[in-house]
Amino acid sequence: MGSKSRQLHIFFFPLMAPGHMLPVIDTARLITTQGVKATIITTPLNEPFVSKTIERTKTCSGFNIDIKTIKFPTVEVGLPEGCENIDSLTSVENSASFLTATGMLRQPLEQLLQDYRPHCIVADMFFPWATDVAAKFGIPRLVFHVTSFFSLSTQVSLQVYEPHKKVLSDSEPFVIPNFPDEIKLTRMKMANQFNDKEGAVLETEFTKVLKEANEADVRSYGVVVNSFYELEPAYANHYIKVLGRKAWHIGPVSLCNKDVEDKGQRGNESSIDKHECLKWLNAKNSDSVVYICFGSLANLTNSQLMEIAMGLEASEQQFIWVVKKGKDEKEEEDWLPKGFEKRMEGKGLIIRGWAPQVLILDHGAVGGFVTHCGWNSTLEGVTAGVPMVTWPMFAEQFYNEKLVTEVLKIGVPVGADQQFVNLMANDAYIIKKEAIENAVRRIMMVSEEAKEMRSRAKALGEMARRAMEKGGSSDSDLKALIEELKILSG
Ligand code: UDP
Repeated sequence: MGSKSRQLHIFFFPLMAPGHMLPVIDTARLITTQGVKATIITTPLNEPFVSKTIERTKTCSGFNIDIKTIKFPTVEVGLPEGCENIDSLTSVENSASFLTATGMLRQPLEQLLQDYRPHCIVADMFFPWATDVAAKFGIPRLVFHVTSFFSLSTQVSLQVYEPHKKVLSDSEPFVIPNFPDEIKLTRMKMANQFNDKEGAVLETEFTKVLKEANEADVRSYGVVVNSFYELEPAYANHYIKVLGRKAWHIGPVSLCNKDVEDKGQRGNESSIDKHECLKWLNAKNSDSVVYICFGSLANLTNSQLMEIAMGLEASEQQFIWVVKKGKDEKEEEDWLPKGFEKRMEGKGLIIRGWAPQVLILDHGAVGGFVTHCGWNSTLEGVTAGVPMVTWPMFAEQFYNEKLVTEVLKIGVPVGADQQFVNLMANDAYIIKKEAIENAVRRIMMVSEEAKEMRSRAKALGEMARRAMEKGGSSDSDLKALIEELKILSG
């Protein structure tokens, strides 16, 4: 344990996936502004992703933030060389090996704790064993969940009451029991269901880790949630007061990226020059551009991309569309209608690869967001105050869709109705161009419905900012957490 004179020192250990690393890095940066020392743990190939993002915090602001790396046992588990991040996985077998490899990080983490003796560790939910490691060193372990109170509460209710076992088919709706609102789900939308050919739920490496994660949640010191109280008060109360979990809401943490430089360098190397991107947006009217991006992992099929292109063109809206395709891949023939980019010149911009998402969403010209409902993207859309077209694909994204469309009422569903089996896109779940066109029109066109959604979204965006300001709900919760950790470390 640390002595009174030592600065509070926290280890942050995110799962190696952009959607997990980004909010954890943002949280670490936020915490250092409160006089705390933060060390981010990652693997060698992920180090540049972290160092690039924290560089300015370290050099310009002088805050105490550092990185330590531990070796990832790629070869030992039979993964292809260089595969240290979920965004480089290409098959289900690889996903299982990846999870096995993460389990092997326990010993090197123990070594780091032994060497540096931090006062607390904030570890990803995918590292359930971190709770025992922390206990061995007599320090608290906090769980970092990359999702909403709404979806955390959904997961607990499904685990406790198992309403999905009382319906007769995967498409029969059931109501989430003992919940603040009446929310219906189907088995097809449930997170992390892995079925065999007969439809029976499979026990996989993944489901095993999730079960352990749920147990670790209860045994850990508490849970850190990237959300803000005013966004989902009924669910924050439900999770903390009814379900009895100890949790702090400290977000939206992406708001620690205040200027163009911070927003432009967040995450991977951007595929577009940030100034070029801003110039394009500056030439547009307020709320006149729809932004389309499906996060860092979803790799859509060529036929699906083709439907999106046709749907966007038919919607007659201006757009920025992020496509996870390399610049050098064959373009027009494969996934774009003939002459698409020429016709869309000045009206639509395709970013191939990584986009500076927060920079784009925060621009006043952006008036709508077509999102896969990954929690970071959803919260970034809320923070930007824009209505959304919800297009969930896997994990808890279908729960986040419910929050956006049925509780917050700031979005419309595109009509996705089932999880990608094994997280892989497939032409079986294709969303047709008409559905895309209609949903985009519904959020972007002038109508009573769109006006109401926009005004609710803008109000939430304001609340998000206020939550992070001095004395706001998230700022206060973060400070309360730090005070508690200081007392524990004393
Ligand atoms: N992101 C980005 N540019 C991209 C794709 C993703 O900046 O081209 C960021 C996005 O802002 C978000 C994160 O990556 O912070 C993705 O997390 P999310 O939870 O939305 O989805 P995931 O990638 O985990 O499916």
